[in-house]
Amino acid sequence: MKKNEKKQGRRDFIKIGLAGIAGAAVAPSLLSADEEKKKNKKKLVNRTLGKTGLKCPIVSIGAQAKDPAVYRAAMDMGLTHFDTANSYDNGNHEVMVGEVIKGRPRDSYIITTKVHLPMDQRTGQFIPGAATTEAFISAFETSLGRLGIEYVDILHMHALSAGAAVTYEPIVLALEKMKKEGKTRFVGVSVHTNEPEVIDAAVDSKFHDVVLTAYNFKQPHMKEVRKSIARAAKAGLGVVAMKTQAGVYWDRERQKKINMTAALKWVLRDENVHTSIPGFTSMEQLEEDMAAMENLNFSDQEKKDLELGMLDGMQGLYCAQCRRCVDTCRHHIEIPTMMRSFMYAYGYRNLAKAKDTIRPLLAETGKCRECGSCTVDCAMGFDVKEKIADIARIENVPDDFLA
Ligand code: SF4
Ligand code: SF4
Repeated sequence: MKKNEKKQGRRDFIKIGLAGIAGAAVAPSLLSADEEKKKNKKKLVNRTLGKTGLKCPIVSIGAQAKDPAVYRAAMDMGLTHFDTANSYDNGNHEVMVGEVIKGRPRDSYIITTKVHLPMDQRTGQFIPGAATTEAFISAFETSLGRLGIEYVDILHMHALSAGAAVTYEPIVLALEKMKKEGKTRFVGVSVHTNEPEVIDAAVDSKFHDVVLTAYNFKQPHMKEVRKSIARAAKAGLGVVAMKTQAGVYWDRERQKKINMTAALKWVLRDENVHTSIPGFTSMEQLEEDMAAMENLNFSDQEKKDLELGMLDGMQGLYCAQCRRCVDTCRHHIEIPTMMRSFMYAYGYRNLAKAKDTIRPLLAETGKCRECGSCTVDCAMGFDVKEKIADIARIENVPDDFLA
């Protein structure tokens, strides 16, 4: 009974928040379009991305949505910073962002893109011969073409997981060249594995301007991430947070949603975070993210909601990418990447991204199928074998069903 009451309370919180917004949207009005727009305007909180001087709302536009209308609505609400990457949705995400910004003044938005080059997932090192200066520049110029712009504001080395990769010379040379040619204003790294090491290396490099890092209330190593973020901000780097809502749902059946506003507040209350890219996929989720800027203090209910999953022992869908599992797996398969794919599929319902993520590892899922009892010890308590069996089924879904 007590448990039900608690869950009811959580639902009420979300419902009340949405009812307020929905009410505003449908109320009959004698106001002009401009007045209506003004009335519905959301509160924006702006911060500056370190020494870059780029200023934008603390909520930016992440890359999970498939519908350009959601992005247009985000811009109408005052959001200005888009995050994309050459690998998202096989380049189609950059094309979509390009369509949304088309015709708008170039100084009315900020674009971040990232280039991912072949990397050994286990060591986090780039693969020489494949990760070259030329390959990076060629991929980035394709990105500019898809976006339909002459330059981006921030260009990242994508998905690093080892400090040594931060100063990998062929890519540093490419970034330098692109900056010199005015094709990017600033450069940086993105990281969702081994964050403290990569962030610290970016600070020490004195080369990078921005770090984009996973950061959320469910990270087992959140204290270390927080410390490195503080160090980066102090050194003048811009700090952007991702994976802010830790997988969106507490459960794979998507019955128990994480309180998105509260989870985002948890990140944004850290003033060393200059902006965030929550992965909203719908208008409802966009509204939940915008609500974080109304008041960064937690309500009592929000505090309870964040604690709820912990108290109920729910593991959620977010994999901390700590890699502890890899050495405890008999076959040392690439579990963290598989778990990320699982989160994209079950949390964000982004099946194309889930399949792209796991595609190079599908052969390894076969090893898991044939393995006996699982020896893996997961930091989040996941039943890894079961999750791999679930996500491996995506192999049988034709790509054109996912486009
Ligand atoms: S069942 Fe899968 S995850 Fe577990 S030890 Fe075997 S291969 Fe590794
Ligand atoms: S599956 Fe578990 S142990 Fe492995 S990286 Fe994710 S959270 Fe860490």
